[in-house]
Amino acid sequence: MADHYEVLGVSRDASTDEIKKAYRRLARQLHPDVNPGEDAAEQFKLVTHAYDVLSDDDSRRRYDMGGGDGAAGNFGGFGGFGDIFETFFGAAQGGGRGGRPRSRRERGQDALVRVTLDLGDVVFGAHRDIEVDTAVLCETCNGSCCQEGTSPVTCDICGGSGHVQRQVRSLLGNVVTSQPCGTCEGYGTTIPYPCGTCGGQGRVRSRRTVSLDIPAGVETGLRLQLPGSGEVGKAGGPNGDLYVEVSVTAHPTFSRDGDDLLATLEVSMPDAILGTETTIQGLDGDVDLEIRAGVQSGDVLTIKGRGITPLRGTQRGDLRVGVQVVTPTKIDSAQRRLIEDFAKKTKAPAPQLAQFQQGLFSKLRDRFRTH
Ligand SMILES: [Zn+2]
Ligand SMILES: [Zn+2]
Repeated sequence: MADHYEVLGVSRDASTDEIKKAYRRLARQLHPDVNPGEDAAEQFKLVTHAYDVLSDDDSRRRYDMGGGDGAAGNFGGFGGFGDIFETFFGAAQGGGRGGRPRSRRERGQDALVRVTLDLGDVVFGAHRDIEVDTAVLCETCNGSCCQEGTSPVTCDICGGSGHVQRQVRSLLGNVVTSQPCGTCEGYGTTIPYPCGTCGGQGRVRSRRTVSLDIPAGVETGLRLQLPGSGEVGKAGGPNGDLYVEVSVTAHPTFSRDGDDLLATLEVSMPDAILGTETTIQGLDGDVDLEIRAGVQSGDVLTIKGRGITPLRGTQRGDLRVGVQVVTPTKIDSAQRRLIEDFAKKTKAPAPQLAQFQQGLFSKLRDRFRTH
């Protein structure tokens, strides 16, 4: 087996600190998470084993005297190295072990609120003031968590590191592991006189009014993100984000098709025959319409630019109105005679088959059913 000092690249009289530094440097290069190569894995085993032997005073002395490895030779897979690696690099690995104490400041949570709009709001956008239950900065301590004139003190137990070290026996010999200090919860400091208003949290629950500008063109299910409008963080940490989920209620008359608005226009039989002018009420005011003589059920009248302003863009969609000619169902005998006379004079044809046509109007109606 290679010489442990050579493996680590240190002299035979290297201090424990130098050995530690050498191991760290090599482990950073060779750890399988960083360097997936087969050779690196073998070298990492050697390096870790060498470190394990030389970092412990007893086993190093035995090794120096030629008494063999000192540590158990059987060190199977990488599982056994996890502890050592985490001891050194725990914080970098996100494990929270070792390294610096954790910060009391935490980012606030994101919040979600729902707003209900009607189609009219969607056409132009809308403004809402909504109440949200959230956390706001504690004004008594201004996020410091401490009573006035006091401040956090260094934790007696961990000496401010936020971690306590523990020696454990492993397959590789004695290994020092580090775990969060239970006394200060890993913060490295304790708060002897917590702020009475917030109980040492630096923030309090509160109901807050958020002013919302909802853009035109939104749809049900869309989430708007308001960065920094969520909960205030613990101990003066940064705010979370506020998400606003939009829900659009169905309108009794108008439906939406992309940026277009759809509606049905019922036209009486005489108006359909003779043509007429009329005014309909759009979502944004009156619209003058001319119905040509002889208009048919299924004809679509398009009013340009009276639809929805898209979410991205300024060009409004159209208002499309599908004509439905309404056949009278109740007529008196005088009216009946007039219609019979009309039929005779116009030589109205008998009902006849024609090719099946999926007219525009029936397409519109299908859309209406799904909205
Ligand atoms: Zn406070
Ligand atoms: Zn502590």
